Amino acid sequence: MILGAHVSTAGGIHNAIKNGTDLDCEAIQIFLRNPNQWQGKSPTPEIIEKFRTAWAAAALSDIIVHDIHLSNLASPKPDVLEKSSQAFREQMELAQVLGLRCIVTHLGAHLGEGEAFGLKRLTESFDRLFEIAEAPDVIVLLETTAGQGTNLGYCFEHIRDVMGMSKYPDRFGVCFDTCHVFAAGYDMRTETDCAMIFSEFDDSVGLNRLKAFHLNDAKSTYQSRVDRHEHIGKGNIGATAFAYILNDPRFAEIPLIIETPEMKTMHKVNLSTLRELKE
Ligand SMILES: [Zn+2]
Ligand SMILES: [Zn+2]
Repeated sequence: MILGAHVSTAGGIHNAIKNGTDLDCEAIQIFLRNPNQWQGKSPTPEIIEKFRTAWAAAALSDIIVHDIHLSNLASPKPDVLEKSSQAFREQMELAQVLGLRCIVTHLGAHLGEGEAFGLKRLTESFDRLFEIAEAPDVIVLLETTAGQGTNLGYCFEHIRDVMGMSKYPDRFGVCFDTCHVFAAGYDMRTETDCAMIFSEFDDSVGLNRLKAFHLNDAKSTYQSRVDRHEHIGKGNIGATAFAYILNDPRFAEIPLIIETPEMKTMHKVNLSTLRELKE
């Protein structure tokens, strides 16, 4: 299995590598910039070099990028759409420079214009980005969402539709977030539930599209549409779903990333809980 965590880049993106290896991660996820600001600072050539050197020396198979929180590539508001596209383009181009292949992003929110509108706008945004960004090797991982408010992506069909409408379907993969899927209304509490969900996912999107997992237990309840992560085994999903994913040979080569709370103190604990669930 490829187990890892979302880790901090405080002090420079190169520090994420040490943060990951200190936790014995096989994969990490990072933000390339402050996720709560539109404007990002590009790392200096020195930092980029330090990042490359540290990665080459580390036993990390995958480094995944997560898009900023402000992003809404489905927005009906032209200014937000433009800022989201600009920020996404910059992250794609930096990922290309750093040799990072995958950027995880949520599907955005239609803000009352309707799901069909939002999914179409989102697809157009990505297609334009694939055409203008100098990032030919970067792919977008559409993340399953809890579906708060008018957020898209709370059902597998939304992801299928974006890939189906895009002129560049090969530029997409999926990131499956356990907490979000559960809160959105896919029960995962038993092995039977898990088997059904992945079969449904396979029918709708295709398991070959699955490129990452976010392993988060849920503080939010089933079908609540609320996105609140909890420590592994301590939330409303429970350990069974995590044991199922960790031990399913179909997922042996897919990075499994935790985004659980209190990462400074609790990442160690959550990763060791997951390692114990591996048979
Ligand atoms: Zn996630
Ligand atoms: Zn979340």
